[in-house]
Amino acid sequence: MSAADLAPVPTLDLSRQYAAVGEQIARAVADVCSAGRFILGREVGEFETAVARTTAASEAVGCASGTDALWLALAALRIGEGAAVVTTPFSFFATVSSILRAGARPVLADIDPVSFNLSADAVAEAVRANPDTRAIMPVHLYGQCADWDALAPVAAQNNLLLIEDAAQAFGASWNGVQAGALGDAAAFSFYPTKNLSAWGDAGLTTFRDAATGELARALRAHGMRRRYYHDEVGWNSRLDTVQAAVLLIKMQYIAQWNDDRRRVAERYAALFADTSLVGSVADGGIVLPTADPRGVHVWHQYVIRTPRRDDLRAHLTAHGIGSEVYYPVPLHMQDALRDLGYREGQFPESEKAAREVLALPIYPELREDEQVRVVEAIHKFFA
Ligand SMILES: *Cc1c(COP(=O)(O)O)cnc(C)c1O
Repeated sequence: MSAADLAPVPTLDLSRQYAAVGEQIARAVADVCSAGRFILGREVGEFETAVARTTAASEAVGCASGTDALWLALAALRIGEGAAVVTTPFSFFATVSSILRAGARPVLADIDPVSFNLSADAVAEAVRANPDTRAIMPVHLYGQCADWDALAPVAAQNNLLLIEDAAQAFGASWNGVQAGALGDAAAFSFYPTKNLSAWGDAGLTTFRDAATGELARALRAHGMRRRYYHDEVGWNSRLDTVQAAVLLIKMQYIAQWNDDRRRVAERYAALFADTSLVGSVADGGIVLPTADPRGVHVWHQYVIRTPRRDDLRAHLTAHGIGSEVYYPVPLHMQDALRDLGYREGQFPESEKAAREVLALPIYPELREDEQVRVVEAIHKFFA
């Protein structure tokens, strides 16, 4: 049998999750529709309460997307004009664009090449060079928390706020503290490809301080606490009741799904260990992702690195195996962010990662035989 005869292994297959829980969710959605409670209905409050409880954050405020959740965190913490926010160039665009949307100035710092997360040393240096810094925005990339042991002291010593971009990390933790309760605020995305996902766009911000959370609740609905009396200019970024109903059901399964992702990641590691592929990038092999023992990784993505990334990706595509590059262009090299004044060469680890990373298929329902095919195809490429 040739590779072409085998069923493809997609990067993500949401139909398997739908087969398991789709009917249960559809009933919950029908409930919302028949009751006509489309905007800020009961399920929104219930979902917020459920997230606050599982993360141990004081407040959880639902909103329209992960991008808005980042903006809402900044707006409620009063980080805007005149303030700089230090973050990573190796992330999704919204990490930086939300800072600009809030009226603040993004300052970039390079990543640690092992975890792909913000380097605390680079952050400290950026803070020294930018006295207007008010906050640090680490991203828990690929489902693993940024090194909070190293970042929290930098924030404390410089009197800075910490805002987590936890869009990829629902359920992850660091030293037993959940993403969402590590910083002063945290933003989650429930975009359909995320590990906890809605049936459309949705997001949520958690807060350490309850009063700040209350302000965010007003800001997501036009700065309105009392109907048609506006305390200040906010925005419309409400969470749909339909999406909250979807997310409430999925909350029952997310711990199991994250466990299943961990099993898939461990299986990849075992399968790769049986090949002779694993080595340093310098040896021409591949480098596997690692989970820091201080945290719990939720494996939103399983990202390997190799200098032959583009050729490997073409090879996998030819064998019906999905893969993705998160992210091919670091943010300081994006056309839209030229005005930040950065140039190529300033963040070498981020630039190198952008050339070398490749995300392999990972989802709770991924089967062992499919993983064997992925690893065999990679083995064949390097043989
Ligand atoms: C997905 C994502 C966002 C944006 O979330 P949306 O819901 O798509 O707006 C922000 N930051 C990171 C790191 C993400 O992965």
